[in-house]
Amino acid sequence: MTTTGKRSWKPATQLVHSGTLRSQFGETSEAMYLTQGYVYGSAEEAEARFKGEEPGFIYSRYSNPTVDMFEKRMCALEGAEDARATASGMAAVTAAILCSLKAGDHIVAARALFGSCRWVVETLAPKYGIEATLVDGTQIGNWEKAIRPNTRLFFLESPTNPTLEVIDIAAVAKLADQAGARLVVDNVFATPLQQKPLELGAHIVVYSATKHIDGQGRCLGGVILSDKKWIDENLHDYFRHTGPSLSPFNAWTMLKGLETLPVRVRQQTESAARVADFLADHPKVGRTIYPGRADHPQADIVKRQMSGGSTLICFDLKAGKKAAFAFENALEVIRISNNLGDAKSLITHPATTTHKNLTDEARAELGIDPGTLRLSVGLEDADDLIEDIDAALRAAG
Ligand SMILES: *Cc1c(COP(=O)(O)O)cnc(C)c1O
Repeated sequence: MTTTGKRSWKPATQLVHSGTLRSQFGETSEAMYLTQGYVYGSAEEAEARFKGEEPGFIYSRYSNPTVDMFEKRMCALEGAEDARATASGMAAVTAAILCSLKAGDHIVAARALFGSCRWVVETLAPKYGIEATLVDGTQIGNWEKAIRPNTRLFFLESPTNPTLEVIDIAAVAKLADQAGARLVVDNVFATPLQQKPLELGAHIVVYSATKHIDGQGRCLGGVILSDKKWIDENLHDYFRHTGPSLSPFNAWTMLKGLETLPVRVRQQTESAARVADFLADHPKVGRTIYPGRADHPQADIVKRQMSGGSTLICFDLKAGKKAAFAFENALEVIRISNNLGDAKSLITHPATTTHKNLTDEARAELGIDPGTLRLSVGLEDADDLIEDIDAALRAAG
């Protein structure tokens, strides 16, 4: 088997070809190796493979050819030395955090986090003696103030869920370096095409591949990318022995998703920009937060670190929860769902779904109001989306 790929290729080329392991049959499309294990030609071969003296696969909890293709293609896209694919985005986040730390260590994280990420930092990590401080990550001074002698990890997502705050990744990375800590960036909302955390100085990047990478609402998956040394020393044994591995079927689905990622993200971003402009001009809409607009609260940072405006929009209906529910219920094209990055446009009311477990105070801190809605723009025609939104706003009273 041979692996395809050149570092000089542009992203779209990487996403079609990189990492392909072609078998002796010369298949065009990547093969799905739906196998748990591998047979050896001889007892000597088995011994050599277990000793690491001969390359090859041993067991699919450790590695699998289809999963390997997905990891190599993600490395090519991200410019990372190595990667480990996981069964879900949360398996990636949890491994990236727990494998970096031990009892007595301290994390500083932005408080605007995907709900389960916040639970891992705030509730799970402390059970094992890892302390956490959550800060308003948009103010760089807050990160600096939170540093302690035992701070070993910084964690953030940008843009954040659901209010699309943008955090200065290069500035946080610099502080992490000064503190002798590592910065983990959850890059789901920006996608690997619109933001390159490793180039900005982050040490580890994580994805929920469930979102734009699959992009068609089918499989769960995740991936952790970093330098080879960190993965060898921190993730290698953890993956072998605890088993958060991605299934070959899901890896195959993600691989095929990667081929069309640039086309989908470009189209969805173009439509999102149009929808955001429509919302911002509408009298029933309060705030419209879209990283691609000049009136975004951190527009200067967006310009520095993102190459696209994202496929997500956050906006408030002035008339609050009742209007937000009436609006959602009147939509015909856009569906109500807490997922994102899908070909189908999806809308969610964070206060009653994804962020319902937070206290009123914590929600207010994050800027989540009763009238706040998060829209993930899909691949439908933007004219139809705007017509759907226009009609639903009229129905919302
Ligand atoms: C969805 C999501 C996750 C979790 O991913 P799963 O694949 O659902 O486990 C983590 N972080 C962010 C920002 C997400 O959007």
